[in-house]
Amino acid sequence: MAERIALVTGGIGGIGSAICSELAGKGFKVVAGYYPAEKDLAEAWQQKQRDAGLEFEIASGDVASYESSQAMIQDIEARVGPIDVLINCAGITRDKSFRKMQPDQWRAVISTNLDSIFNVTHQVVGGMVERGWGRIVNISSVNGQRGQFGQTNYSAAKAGAHGFTMALAQEVARKGVTVNTVSPGYIATEMTDKMADDVRDQIVAQVPMARLGTPAEVAYLVGVFCDDRAAYITGANYELNGGLYMSF
Ligand code: NDP
Repeated sequence: MAERIALVTGGIGGIGSAICSELAGKGFKVVAGYYPAEKDLAEAWQQKQRDAGLEFEIASGDVASYESSQAMIQDIEARVGPIDVLINCAGITRDKSFRKMQPDQWRAVISTNLDSIFNVTHQVVGGMVERGWGRIVNISSVNGQRGQFGQTNYSAAKAGAHGFTMALAQEVARKGVTVNTVSPGYIATEMTDKMADDVRDQIVAQVPMARLGTPAEVAYLVGVFCDDRAAYITGANYELNGGLYMSF
């Protein structure tokens, strides 16, 4: 069988990098998507991975834009091949309490975290269906499940991601394509590094495991969904949050 190709959007970020490594370890050919303005950073990332013995392709695209996402996928298909696995991982935060939130902060988060899932998935799902195999994993968040002060934009986008998962999962279920959501709790990356120390300490104090998660722990779960043996799991949301939020 030809080597399967995986695209990880936000692939050079904290969690994205760990997902790239996990999928490479599972035998996928991995493409890391990056924001166009980050070309230098992406090339440095690629070299760093190479030095560590990991070979990744990189591809530029603004996932908040349909046209840019389309161009990114065309570029990947021409250079690498058709995409069998898509991990929608690119995301941002623009936190503000609702009454102070400006329309640009709302739109930036909705377009980067939710429109992006449409923009990128729309380019690849047809090919997956035609080939009769595909894996799509959307990275949501515990704050999409339970809401979070100062994150009406982010919570709405992340909750929307799972609505998308459940709907698309039904449309492609008979075609060998699964669609699932992974909802991490607080993970030690640049995103959480940017938090004020006292805010982070308060969060950790609420986590039954009394620590942040690691990108590798998220990546492990994403890898499970991408496995051939996970063929019967679809439309699911799996959370990993150290016990911060429990549901079933
Ligand atoms: P990072 O900021 O490290 O990674 C996100 C990546 O997405 C960055 O490389 C970023 O590029 C990229 N990105 C942002 N906007 C765009 C865009 N328009 N087009 C293409 N790429 C873009 O964050 P994390 O690794 O922490 O987060 C990854 C995902 O996990 C996100 O969806 C996040 O919401 C989710 N998550 C994170 C948690 C955490 O605690 N860290 C908890 C729960 C969920 P750039 O650096 O240029 O912005």
